[in-house]
Amino acid sequence: MLLTIKTTMPGAPDLGYALHKHPGRVQRFDQSFGTAHVFYPDADEDRCTAALLLDVDPVKLARTRSRSTPDFSLGQYVNDRPYAASSLMASAMANVFRTAMRGRCDARPELAATPIPLEIVLPALPCRGGPAQAARFFEPLGWEVSAVPVPLDPEFPEWGDSRYVTLTLTGRQRLADALNQVYVLLPVLDDAKHYWMAPDEVDKLIRAGEGWLAAHPARADITRRYLANRRTLVRAALGRLADSEDAPEDALDHTDIDEEQPAATVPHATDADADADAASAHGATATEDAGATEDAAPVTLAERRGRAVLEALREEDARRVIDLGCGSGKLLSRLLQDAFFTEIAGADVSYRALGAAKRRLKWEQSPNASSGRLTDLFQGALTYADERFRGYDAAVLMEVVEHVDPPRLGAVEQVVFGDAAPRVVVVTTPNSEHNVRYEGMAPGAMRHADHRFEWTRAQFREWAGRVAAAHGYQVRHVPVGDDDPEVGAPTQMGVFSR
Ligand code: SAH
Repeated sequence: MLLTIKTTMPGAPDLGYALHKHPGRVQRFDQSFGTAHVFYPDADEDRCTAALLLDVDPVKLARTRSRSTPDFSLGQYVNDRPYAASSLMASAMANVFRTAMRGRCDARPELAATPIPLEIVLPALPCRGGPAQAARFFEPLGWEVSAVPVPLDPEFPEWGDSRYVTLTLTGRQRLADALNQVYVLLPVLDDAKHYWMAPDEVDKLIRAGEGWLAAHPARADITRRYLANRRTLVRAALGRLADSEDAPEDALDHTDIDEEQPAATVPHATDADADADAASAHGATATEDAGATEDAAPVTLAERRGRAVLEALREEDARRVIDLGCGSGKLLSRLLQDAFFTEIAGADVSYRALGAAKRRLKWEQSPNASSGRLTDLFQGALTYADERFRGYDAAVLMEVVEHVDPPRLGAVEQVVFGDAAPRVVVVTTPNSEHNVRYEGMAPGAMRHADHRFEWTRAQFREWAGRVAAAHGYQVRHVPVGDDDPEVGAPTQMGVFSR
């Protein structure tokens, strides 16, 4: 089975850098179920194609049909696996293109970060639901999709089509996004029955889905198929997606993964049909919510975090607020809806996040929207002192510190507490002790692929105490979300004031 990736960007052979595979060589990679080969059918200045050819050995596959084999259920000696791109191809992609899929390219960092013209072809893709299904999953991601059914036998057109399509995706995408999308959606389209799911499948899905899955209109269906309909895993994954920074508002309104104990669980999921699943799985009703929220409606962790930050700012009488690492601007929009806050600004190092924030807040159309209270929205890095960070009553770093490489954290402390030095600083970060409460989360895993660390409560207190002492602040700690007697609340918040 074959996967080809073509680009027509100027300097096309640079695709080799981005894939970390030299265009001049044929390389082979042993897999537990066969051999993967990478080679370049063409590598001209204006056009370069990389091919991943997977040679499945049915005997090896049958022998290794154990926990390490992604296609556990298909261990028969005779099946379509050697000829069709399925979860085996996805598994080989993850193995062969690991670094490219992480979006890393030290030799050409801008290449990894930039959308490039791509054409991806899978000549034989098992596609349950037919061409329309392929379009439904890939088009919302910005691909032009051609899915042509493969006839059962070209000699006998009256036999009709097989369940395979030739899939061609054309579009401009970051290479890492493209690879991750194909990686997730191959087994989703195949929708073969798996009887065994590795405990880290949820983590894998969250990592590969970063930046695109949480906002995908079919995210619930994709998640269900990817996780072979395992309800607890699906619920955990949908919860984590809704809680991720990529999630659109509507996903945030219906999902909560923080009340896992069935007795106190409200069945939440992103979509109405998933709601029905969860409800039947638990037999729970919304009135059983024992969560520490003011109203009976299900409230997401992200929502509770936003409320907690606003409450802390109010208590400190901080009306002029800058949101540092504002992401897609969810907190900014919340601040704008509350007239208590008179001046609001946001900064983020990521242009992509800022773009999303600008769209959410309609910044381009009306920079002075909301009676001019949103005064600034700009690109900036917290590791460099910036006068635009100065002059506010409060700075918020909501779920930001854990994205900073530990060796750079000292710089962030100096910039925020030493240089910008507002009267109030509010910091929220995950409480890693709480992770054991997330079903399907592997021990030691982190909640988001980009987290560089996650602190226990003791570690956060230690950090906060040291930073406060160094810069003349007092700090108080507030748990956010249900405060589990054993492992604490899912989010921890430090409110620094001086
Ligand atoms: N505060 C938002 C987003 C959290 S995600 C929310 O709670 O929804 C973390 C954000 O921090 C990302 O948008 C990331 O781009 C930003 N970030 C990470 N490191 C940064 C740095 N050094 N300077 C500025 N922003 C940074």
